Amino acid sequence: MKGECLCGEVAFEIDGGLPNLYQCHCSLCRKATGAKANAATFVSEEHFRWLSGQSSISSFQKPTGYRSDFCSACGSPVPNRLRNTELVWVPAGLLDEATSARVAVHLHLASAAEWEQEADDCIRLAGGPDSLKSLHDALQ
Ligand SMILES: [Zn+2]
Ligand SMILES: [Zn+2]
Repeated sequence: MKGECLCGEVAFEIDGGLPNLYQCHCSLCRKATGAKANAATFVSEEHFRWLSGQSSISSFQKPTGYRSDFCSACGSPVPNRLRNTELVWVPAGLLDEATSARVAVHLHLASAAEWEQEADDCIRLAGGPDSLKSLHDALQ
């Protein structure tokens, strides 16, 4: 299983099967991703290998210890090794190959943003907004 950031600078590889995923809906993960939740998993260090871009990784840490590592060029969250463990945290959105892994745990649902809920008339398209007269209008 290979994965890379948005610009491709930071790339990595995982041996063996990918464990199932969790999603965290806390306010910190929301800010770190810009989305309703992160989606990630943990793999053991022996199954994880950097392919490129380690020197392009920047790290931000809150005083509380919450940490986000990201690509300095494109801002994608990137894997990081958990302190005092043999585990590497891997953001699912970076993975580029098919997997049988699925979301198995949701965390911090009590902190979830209200806007996570879909509107009653939510439009679901298989592709982009081309079939809409205007995406902006559809959001009104
Ligand atoms: Zn990048
Ligand atoms: Zn979180």
